[in-house]
Amino acid sequence: MLSATVFLGALNRFGIAAWDHVADFCRSQRTQTAGSSISYSKMEKVPYDLIVIGSGPGGYSAAVRAGQYGLKTAIIEKDNKLGGCCLHVGCIPTKALLHTADVWKYVTHSEDEGITLEKPVLNYPKVIDRKNKIVTKHAKGVEFLMKKNKVEWIRGFATLKGGGKVDVKTDTGTQTLEAKNILIATGSEARMLPGLKPDADILTNIEILDMTVVPKSLNIIGSGAVGSEFGSMFSRFGTKVTIFEMLPRIVPVEDEEVSKELARVFKKEGIRIETGAKVDPASVKKTSGGVTLKATLSNGKEEEFTAEKLLVAVGRAPNTANIGLENTKVEVDRGFIKVNEWQQTAEPGVYAIGDVVAGTPQLAHVASMQGMVAIGHIAGKPVHPINRNRIPGATYTEPGIGSVGLTEAQARAAGYDVKIGKFPFAANSKASILGSHDGFVKVVADAKHGEILGVHIIGPQAYELISEAVTAMESEATVETLMSTIHAHPTIYEAVGEAFNAVYGLAINA
Ligand SMILES: Cc1cc2nc3c(=O)[nH]c(=O)nc-3n(C[C@H](O)[C@H](O)[C@H](O)COP(=O)(O)OP(=O)(O)OC[C@H]3O[C@@H](n4cnc5c(N)ncnc54)[C@H](O)[C@@H]3O)c2cc1C
Repeated sequence: MLSATVFLGALNRFGIAAWDHVADFCRSQRTQTAGSSISYSKMEKVPYDLIVIGSGPGGYSAAVRAGQYGLKTAIIEKDNKLGGCCLHVGCIPTKALLHTADVWKYVTHSEDEGITLEKPVLNYPKVIDRKNKIVTKHAKGVEFLMKKNKVEWIRGFATLKGGGKVDVKTDTGTQTLEAKNILIATGSEARMLPGLKPDADILTNIEILDMTVVPKSLNIIGSGAVGSEFGSMFSRFGTKVTIFEMLPRIVPVEDEEVSKELARVFKKEGIRIETGAKVDPASVKKTSGGVTLKATLSNGKEEEFTAEKLLVAVGRAPNTANIGLENTKVEVDRGFIKVNEWQQTAEPGVYAIGDVVAGTPQLAHVASMQGMVAIGHIAGKPVHPINRNRIPGATYTEPGIGSVGLTEAQARAAGYDVKIGKFPFAANSKASILGSHDGFVKVVADAKHGEILGVHIIGPQAYELISEAVTAMESEATVETLMSTIHAHPTIYEAVGEAFNAVYGLAINA
């Protein structure tokens, strides 16, 4: 059955507007702003319809959408470039480097393809240069989008003052701006272990991206997406990698079988994994060998580990400490901002999205979709709230991980009569062609109605494959729909179709 929001969305797509009054409002707004001159990085004491604080994927996407709806919008960014963590020190630079790691693996295993190469050389400074060029190109793209959508970009540090006012501190002083609505999108920063400060040897996601030499060895504390991706990348570049994880398994938010498979492949590739291991922050010291630490391992014994570099990847803290929340009614939970389904905070007219928000995963696509929800709500447009169970997770390790919905354990704990369909990439012909046989597709379904509860993929381009499952769940398709969906041959997508058939024991190739 179609949900009301899907139905309303469909009506809108076909031009049947239940929101004519809203469209009128937006048209009038557009007329007001269309001819107005936009001065970039120049303060204007004019009330805005919207002030966005922070230009990460959450903030800039929301600003674009606000511009599209004709809202007079300003975006305030403390850094001198737009794009936030994701573009400058997160998603994009890491995926650029991970792509090079993929290529390097192909090059160094070219004999498998029947290609003989004489001594390939990894020119790491050039690798970094390529990564930087990609980032710069896209930062310029974000600037272009602001201009195109008539969003005023103001450089400075924003502080909420209450009553729709925002102070912006720049090199030349502080000015107060006013807006009908304010969107907090100030993102997050890497958590450090107590007593440690990042530098050239003790690294966060920022410093590690600036290295111009591949380290001989790397210890990583934390096995979430960030820790695992850097581990996978540097291991393929030839670094001896050890990952320490306090919990019993790596990538702990994933389905247990996915964690197990990643650990199996990582170990096969030479990555040392210490789960159930507690690193003593006070033991971390710079030594002649690099950085030394002591960890209590799962067997209860304390061991000393030294590596050239140490990466701390133990999660990200919301940037909410100095932004003036105390001047508002905005409520927080351990620093994260509490919002309702429309991204509204407890302060009227103040919304929050992205990494600062309590209760949703810290992912770029979550931030940007929350922005769409907030702006749609402000402009009175048809949007529906984020469904926590339809947020894809993507980890760009080798093999990659893509997941959506409930894990098997979560589905069982929720009381579902669970049916599992699983298909290994070892039985998929395209995976053979790619030389990428590790992993599987796992479907978690409800036995009673064939409802798709979750899909968990580890294998070649799993982070791309997962989109099919997300679309299926968003369209409220059932296992049967996916069983009769035709997948082109030979593709790795066929493994997804097979896994849905496997729910009823009907996979053909395994
Ligand atoms: C190494 C790494 C890899 C990642 N890879 C992925 C990935 O592949 N896919 C994915 O979905 N997610 C990934 N993430 C997570 C992703 O980067 C974040 O979820 C995303 O950036 C959050 O977006 P945001 O808009 O909430 O905030 P951010 O991107 O953090 O942007 C916030 C912006 O606000 C600015 N700001 C902060 N305070 C103020 C202030 N008071 N005044 C003015 N400006 C301010 C900051 O300077 C910053 O530019 C990764 C993260 C890391 C660290």
